[in-house]
Amino acid sequence: MANYGIIGFGCAGYYGAKTIRENDPDGKITVFSEHEYSPYNPMLTTYYVAGKIPFEGMFPFGDMAKIKEELNLEVITGKKVAKVDAAAKTVTVEDGESFTFDKILVATGASAFAPQFEGLDPADAFYMRTLDDAIRLRNALDTTEYTTALVVGASMVGIKVVELLNNKGIKTTLADMAPKMFPLAAYDSVSDEISRRITQKGVCLALGSALTSCEKRENGYICHMSDGSTVDADLIVLCIGTRTNVSILDKDQVKINRGVIVDENMQTSAEGIYAAGDVSEGAELQSKDSMIIGLWANAAHQGTTAGANMAGATASFDGNFLHNITHFMDMDFIGFGDNRLTGQVVKSGDITKGLYVEAVIGEDGLVGVNILDNYRISGTVKNYLYRIMENKTARLSPIQKGILIKEGLRPSFIEKMEGKFNG
Ligand SMILES: Cc1cc2nc3c(=O)[nH]c(=O)nc-3n(C[C@H](O)[C@H](O)[C@H](O)COP(=O)(O)OP(=O)(O)OC[C@H]3O[C@@H](n4cnc5c(N)ncnc54)[C@H](O)[C@@H]3O)c2cc1C
Repeated sequence: MANYGIIGFGCAGYYGAKTIRENDPDGKITVFSEHEYSPYNPMLTTYYVAGKIPFEGMFPFGDMAKIKEELNLEVITGKKVAKVDAAAKTVTVEDGESFTFDKILVATGASAFAPQFEGLDPADAFYMRTLDDAIRLRNALDTTEYTTALVVGASMVGIKVVELLNNKGIKTTLADMAPKMFPLAAYDSVSDEISRRITQKGVCLALGSALTSCEKRENGYICHMSDGSTVDADLIVLCIGTRTNVSILDKDQVKINRGVIVDENMQTSAEGIYAAGDVSEGAELQSKDSMIIGLWANAAHQGTTAGANMAGATASFDGNFLHNITHFMDMDFIGFGDNRLTGQVVKSGDITKGLYVEAVIGEDGLVGVNILDNYRISGTVKNYLYRIMENKTARLSPIQKGILIKEGLRPSFIEKMEGKFNG
């Protein structure tokens, strides 16, 4: 009977366990989780803090007892794994107990990482990465009267925190050292429009302005910014960086870059050791580089692929490309592809209202798309971009064209998106 170990029980760990069980009904699967919660979806934590979903709403696979029974798992919770010996295939937990496996999946995700700021006690700052971060912020908001807040990080996590604080009537400043909103995903025109809309809703923007130091005042801080300005904040939320949880591995045994390096089967450089989800790097299809993709669907695919290969089936995951789908403050922003790639720019719609699409056509066809205010076309556009990356001559199918036209895109724009500029 095969003996499998899974470290970390989030999205990738869950799909890894589920797929092993589907392919090996008799094998022994032991899951290690540093906390007692059942696998949760971090994307939903800001909705919980905002009071939009109940606590139970964050657990897409149900409670731990149900999962344990359905997948027939041994579950060791509330203990952090301290070390993996990839050669001996042993897992040692923090109290020193060791377990030996035939195959191990490392699915430990990533943690919030913020530099130390002079004058700011790290324990006074809030973060938004884990369920415990969400519970702490929610408790603080329920028990303390905040009037001002500073959120650092103008990406998909920061904007959700800004939204919920703004809805509570807290005067909120959103700062980022980058000069624009969604710096890694949005084109300048779309960034500017998003800035205009959120400013109109009462949020103060401090873009191109990094937090440098803080000065304690009664019940809060005066925050000093790199452009010389100051921001008054009772509450500081840092949404600026993440670090992969790779410290349990030995770099002499397993190749690690920023994340654990895996092949298309999710196998690491060490035989029998697999990695999936935010802890791992995968192929980024546009640049062909290996990088951390950091998306829920990616973690699910990688976990599924790892689980199948661990249990003796064959599966491969060729990679993903950068994308961002965020709903906030009554708008949808969708960004596909590397926003630094240049080419002919084509636009459809009025950016200030209704569906707006901006596409960049490089020498070999579409390289990136920004969509404002219509998430319904995102699947079609994403699928098309994905196919172009596989085959440069790919075209939209008649059904896909029909969907885009029904949602308001003109046929002439769709032709341009396909790289046809004649006439
Ligand atoms: C606030 C927020 C918003 C997001 N929004 C989106 C979005 O809109 N769209 C999108 O696609 N993605 C979004 N993401 C990203 C998405 O949630 C992640 O890509 C996905 O959850 C990664 O899954 P994972 O299993 O790799 O890691 P995780 O879900 O982080 O799971 C890793 C698990 O391993 C455990 N662990 C770590 N170290 C150890 C150890 N040593 N021993 C035992 N257990 C350990 C952790 O406690 C954790 O439970 C968001 C993330 C956050 C934080």
